[in-house]
Amino acid sequence: MSKNVYQFVDVERIDPPKKPSILRREEFAEIYQPMSETQVAGQADRCLDCGNPYCEWKCPVHNFIPQWLSLANEGRIFEAAELSSKTNTLPEVCGRVCPQDRLCEGACTLNDDFGAVTIGSIEKYITDTAFKQGWRPDMSNVVKTNKKVAIIGAGPAGLGCADILVRNGVKPVVFDKYEKIGGLLTFGIPSFKLEKEVIALRHEIFAEMGMEFVLNTEVGRDLPFQDLLDGYDAVFLGMGTYKAMKGGFDNEKAPGVYEALPYLIANVNRQLGLEKSPDHFIDMKGKKVLVLGGGDTTMDCVRTAIRQGAPDVTCAYRRDEASMPGSRREVVNAREEGVNFKFNLMPLDIAVDENGKAIGVKMVKTEMGQPDAEGRRRPVMVEGSEHVLEADAVIIAFGFQPSPASWFGDYGIILDEKGRVRAPKHGKFAFQTSNPKIFSGGDMVRGSDLVVTAIDEGRNAAEGILDYLGV
Ligand code: FAD
Ligand code: SF4
Repeated sequence: MSKNVYQFVDVERIDPPKKPSILRREEFAEIYQPMSETQVAGQADRCLDCGNPYCEWKCPVHNFIPQWLSLANEGRIFEAAELSSKTNTLPEVCGRVCPQDRLCEGACTLNDDFGAVTIGSIEKYITDTAFKQGWRPDMSNVVKTNKKVAIIGAGPAGLGCADILVRNGVKPVVFDKYEKIGGLLTFGIPSFKLEKEVIALRHEIFAEMGMEFVLNTEVGRDLPFQDLLDGYDAVFLGMGTYKAMKGGFDNEKAPGVYEALPYLIANVNRQLGLEKSPDHFIDMKGKKVLVLGGGDTTMDCVRTAIRQGAPDVTCAYRRDEASMPGSRREVVNAREEGVNFKFNLMPLDIAVDENGKAIGVKMVKTEMGQPDAEGRRRPVMVEGSEHVLEADAVIIAFGFQPSPASWFGDYGIILDEKGRVRAPKHGKFAFQTSNPKIFSGGDMVRGSDLVVTAIDEGRNAAEGILDYLGV
């Protein structure tokens, strides 16, 4: 029977079913349920197989999307997983956390008129299902070399780098200061977006592939960086960005004011049983919570507070809704779970009581003004509109700035004017730093961004390392 080329008209786009929000509010578990085999086949078949697939170009790792959609449609899941793993180190993770509306699905030819193909959900389905059925990445053609590379950071960038190296016969040894791999996948992104078991399974699989992990080890503190430079053929830095951006207003350190990442990490540590002391947990149960910001981290904080039992959670953002930098999908999810949104409100100060404890945030209303240097419209304050938004707890989620290690200068690692490690993609060797033996990628090179862009840079840096080593 010939293929129905109008499948995209006859079959509507469907997203994977979500759990009811009343249940979601109670648990730290993924909210999307798996698609069925039939749904995946039908949705994959909506792909037009465009001659020049925009989705593939827009995807930072340039996945072979139409090809694995076609394999998924035919039920050839192992082949689909193998193909998917050729371009992406963590397809099942990207399928869960990529902002597809801005990337592959946003570029799908069907997007405007018919609804984009559900690329992300199918990408997740392929690898999840293949793993369950026993598939493992094919390493049978790998020819081992005698080279080994030290990788600092087991986040997406470090894992992307290790993936390409190990598939080319170079031994990657990955060091991380945390007790689990994943970087922000484990200790930042909450489990209602990405369950921790996904990364735990990856840990096993990566180890089977030949990656070695040295955890609980902070390079520069527990282990001198010089040891890595002396003991390995090259070093990759994938250490992320961890310096929280401040509001710069009064009383920012008042009791009741929290930074986003320590709040999220404390919650994950409790879930994983890694909490060092109960005092480290930040509990929003019963509190009126105000989260300042508009990105993915903000959405993660508001939704975590809801699950901890906060009855009243508000996100306040200084621009309008259309200007929010985070994923649209997560804003929708937060709303469904009961989060209030207040737009065009700029924080001026933390309001405190007579004991210095936060009782809210002094806000001013804004209007959208002229675009700034990056083309984003500036929020302009409306005179005389100052008022206090009351809260028992305030979480500041303004994003992150580079946090280069103090010892980088000792090894000739040069930073750019923003504090990011300088490692050009198109240098002599991709992502080589100013020290020829040291490469770098991910958030510490491009600034705080996305999982998929960090994976991409780690993989490209590994190609640079292979060229440098002559492998
Ligand atoms: P990281 O993931 O930060 O990993 C760096 C690793 O280096 C860490 O494990 C750290 O412990 C280790 N390290 C640092 N210094 C040392 C040292 N001296 N010795 C040993 N180890 C060290 N992106 C998305 O695409 N979708 C999302 O939904 C999303 N949500 C996010 C939510 C939150 C709360 C945050 C904070 C970020 C989110 N992001 C999201 C962004 C994404 O997580 C990052 O862009 C990505 O993880 C960067 O990868 P990386 O490998 O560069 O760094
Ligand atoms: Fe889309 Fe991200 Fe998968 Fe690329 S990696 S196809 S952008 S979900």
